[in-house]
Amino acid sequence: MVLGCVAVLLLTAIAGVLQYRWTNFASESHRRQGREAMRGTLRNFSDDFRDTLRQLPPFFRPSPDEKNDAALEQYMFESARRWHSTADHPQLLDSVSIGTKSDKGVIFRRLKTGDNQFKIEDWPNEFGAYRRVLEERLRLAGGELPLFPNGFAFEFFQGRPVLIFPLVTDASDWKRPGDTMNESPPSQQLLQPREWLQSLKPAASPGADDAPDLRGWCFLEVDNDYLRQYVITELVVRHYGTGARYQVAVVASPPLSLIYGSDPTLTIESMSLVDAGIVLLEANISQARRGPAPVPSGPRPFVAGPQGAPLSAIRDNRGGGDDLNWLLVVKNKGGSIESLVENARLHILLFSSIMLVLLAGSSVMLMLATARARRLAQQQMEFVAGVSHELRTPLTVIQSTSYNLAQGTIQDPSRVQQYGDVIQREARRLINQVERMLSFAGIQSGRRVYDLQPTDAIEIAERSLAEYAVPFAEDGWQIEQHFAEDLPLVLTDGPALESSLKNLFDNALKYAAQGKWLSVRARTAQGTKGREVQITVADRGPGIAPKDLPHIFEPFYRGASETAATTSGAGLGLCLVERTLRALGGRVTVQSARGEGTSFTLHLPVS
Ligand code: ADP
Repeated sequence: MVLGCVAVLLLTAIAGVLQYRWTNFASESHRRQGREAMRGTLRNFSDDFRDTLRQLPPFFRPSPDEKNDAALEQYMFESARRWHSTADHPQLLDSVSIGTKSDKGVIFRRLKTGDNQFKIEDWPNEFGAYRRVLEERLRLAGGELPLFPNGFAFEFFQGRPVLIFPLVTDASDWKRPGDTMNESPPSQQLLQPREWLQSLKPAASPGADDAPDLRGWCFLEVDNDYLRQYVITELVVRHYGTGARYQVAVVASPPLSLIYGSDPTLTIESMSLVDAGIVLLEANISQARRGPAPVPSGPRPFVAGPQGAPLSAIRDNRGGGDDLNWLLVVKNKGGSIESLVENARLHILLFSSIMLVLLAGSSVMLMLATARARRLAQQQMEFVAGVSHELRTPLTVIQSTSYNLAQGTIQDPSRVQQYGDVIQREARRLINQVERMLSFAGIQSGRRVYDLQPTDAIEIAERSLAEYAVPFAEDGWQIEQHFAEDLPLVLTDGPALESSLKNLFDNALKYAAQGKWLSVRARTAQGTKGREVQITVADRGPGIAPKDLPHIFEPFYRGASETAATTSGAGLGLCLVERTLRALGGRVTVQSARGEGTSFTLHLPVS
């Protein structure tokens, strides 16, 4: 049994360790999957966003043969019209500007959406670097034209994204966007346009080389309101749903400002710590995504740890400086992936631990129940054997004695009398035994009903003792009786009390024969539930072994002493006494000392 419990506990501990390791492993892969999914969504969002903007330049890139300024202007005007009638997001374009160089100097012309002609404006200071390239005929180190490696650059003009590409005159040297993509060294992939322009050197004097001339620049300015209200909103719904799980924002910096918030309550402060993000847009000249682009070519998504990350962490993650940029940031409404996975892990661990404890508990209970059932079955077998033995002894005596009488072999009247007494005694033993078994069966099934009446306990004690007077006298017992005067009546069932006392006398005869001394006392005392009458039956027998003492009131329990082993009995006597007393509203207690004797006290409630 103990071994079984230890085995169950050991198995539970092993299962617990395996469960713990498995949960950690599963959580780790969930965490990894979650982070990867988050990164993938950010990357897709960013690609879709850039793809939308990237649709603009092909519409406006003129043929290099458009040598004439008026023709170029007309071409741009037509392109804008074509854009508005055929593009997916016609309102995305706010204005088309061209900055060209002629004999009279540089001119900046802008065609606002809705206008029907270009208007000459001052060259914006923000685009001063582009003006200088034209004026000073700046070229790459080898004297080549300053064509952007991938055809165009992103810049910000008054906070609005602008796409810029060069206008060249000679078709033979025209490097179409994408043509140079695979040739451009990786170091050029994330160049900042201003830095790149500043690295240019003045070319030889005009006409000194055969290089085609850079005619000017085209600036495509994006409508921020449209970008915010339609493009970003649509992308957020496409990639993050309608906002049940995530808060999504697009933040411009520096200075920090909110370009877009998926939730009207979102503020820059509320997004100061985010779960993930990616640089959506920044001034650079590498935006094309054609051909088999290497994976790290785009902006790198950032997924924060359990505590979230400040916006600066996402900016730093791209490895750039403090140039103006737009960040797409995401906050999981239910907490970061880390904390969600951690919560789920703790819940799984808690539930699996509870399950394991329950499993271990029920296994132990099952083992206990099985052991108990086995013990009961064993006891019942012993009971049947004991009862059969108990019944057989008196029956054998009765049978042989009555046979002798019937055969007429016993003639002497005194001997006949003696034989009659034997038959009577054995018959009484038989009746007692049968009664005991019936009582036990009655109590067990709950059929036994007690008739509680105010009863004189002394009368019952004396009557019971009188019935045992002969056996005690035959063995030479010394009997002492002490009944307190004015003992109150007790509320009890007389016959039930009588049979309990007889059980105690019976046991004294069986187990305390060495002392041959019996005392029966009755007195009033204050019990746990009020005043009670206590009847104590004490003997000077061998006493009860301490290991037997807690069990003697259990059904079928028999002491391990030698006397008990050689004495008839089924282990029901004291069990009956205990259950009867309980049913009568009282109780039985025992005191025993090895070698000194045993005393049982019946506690009966006063009437
Ligand atoms: P049984 O007498 O059939 O064994 P009981 O329920 O009457 O069953 O008693 C249970 C056990 O308690 C006995 O087997 C015996 O070991 C012990 N016992 C009972 N009464 C006494 C007593 N007066 N002195 C010593 N041992 C006793």
